[in-house]
Amino acid sequence: MTEPDRQGRFGPYGGVYVPETLMEPLRELDCEYRRAWRDPAFRRELNHYLKHYVGRPTPLYLAARMTAALGGPRIYLKREDLCHTGAHKINNSLAQCLLARRMGKRRVIAETGAGQHGVATATCAALFGLECVVYMGRVDMARQALNVFRMQALGAEVVAVTAGQQTLKEAISEAMRDWVTNVRQTHYVLGTAYGAAPYPEMVRNFQSVIGVEARRQILAQEGRLPAALVACVGGGSNAIGLFHPFLRDRRVALIGVEAGGLGIRSGQHAARFADGRVGVLQGTRTYVLQDGEGQIRLTHSVSAGLDYAAVGPEHAWLHDTGRAEYSYVTDDEAVAAFHQLARWEGLLSALESIHAVAWVIRHARRRWSKRDLVIVNLSGRGDKDVQQIAAWEQSHEA
Ligand SMILES: *Cc1c(COP(=O)(O)O)cnc(C)c1O
Repeated sequence: MTEPDRQGRFGPYGGVYVPETLMEPLRELDCEYRRAWRDPAFRRELNHYLKHYVGRPTPLYLAARMTAALGGPRIYLKREDLCHTGAHKINNSLAQCLLARRMGKRRVIAETGAGQHGVATATCAALFGLECVVYMGRVDMARQALNVFRMQALGAEVVAVTAGQQTLKEAISEAMRDWVTNVRQTHYVLGTAYGAAPYPEMVRNFQSVIGVEARRQILAQEGRLPAALVACVGGGSNAIGLFHPFLRDRRVALIGVEAGGLGIRSGQHAARFADGRVGVLQGTRTYVLQDGEGQIRLTHSVSAGLDYAAVGPEHAWLHDTGRAEYSYVTDDEAVAAFHQLARWEGLLSALESIHAVAWVIRHARRRWSKRDLVIVNLSGRGDKDVQQIAAWEQSHEA
């Protein structure tokens, strides 16, 4: 139940839906990844950089004023916003860049939407002296000029993708094309628990440091397990990283929060479980937002990191088995929660992470008692989003 089968399937989800030319590179990656993950020397080196470079362990912080204001369970925030570069993404980029170096690959490539994964990968490439190319839709480059500057300052080449909608989906396709062409010297650092096997399992294991720490911390601080874990779900990496070490703790509820955008009925959202159907997109079988003809629908969220038409396959499996539950939060609720958390706790949350916080604000008191503990993953900090929020508010006042 907690591990994929040998074809990389979580129940009916996941698998390897790629062109023939990618089968061999994926097989090689699978083999090298498994060898590295079992190798104490690799784990030691990874832990060294997680501690001294990323700044782990990140705190598990009791949000006392938020708890008091809501009058419900004791709310703890897992502070991934304190990681170097400002989000959980670097946990994965760091491990994959170490893996690339171990495989003798001198060049890494990545896709990025909002730019956070691109910045994390460019950072780790600089750290290890690897060449780095980041594919980014031209529309996203214009929206996220600051992150483009950061990547370039770190020595990465940012390639503008001009196909289709010129956003994340096209950037992933372009990165895959590059990988096929240059696979001998290149590793593709995929940014979330998504895509063809072994990526969903590998990225989940690299992010599971979040849940391993949180489990140890809550037991040390409270002497018992939480009633629930809550995390936002884009591709699904921060959520599965938190959930995974608790999967066998059946009494811990796992709650994933998707982007409800302008509401489900508007059609402008990225709530794959509320409104999607099973299909295949970019290497994997999972829940996908698609129209009657199977064309991929356009998505919308105030938060760029949640704005994708499909979800990681392990979440699809956790959804169907009932082990995790999935809900959504609209743009309005997310922006309101951004301000509430800022005033309660002095924390400017990333727009992605605030979806999880907003869900807790709406539901926690009804669902749990004051004795219960709830852990919310604060996956990133909000400095990157302040302009976006200011613009959003202006357009709503008008
Ligand atoms: C990218 C991002 C996300 C969404 O990605 P997941 O793979 O679902 O975690 C969430 N939070 C932050 C801060 C991000 O940068």
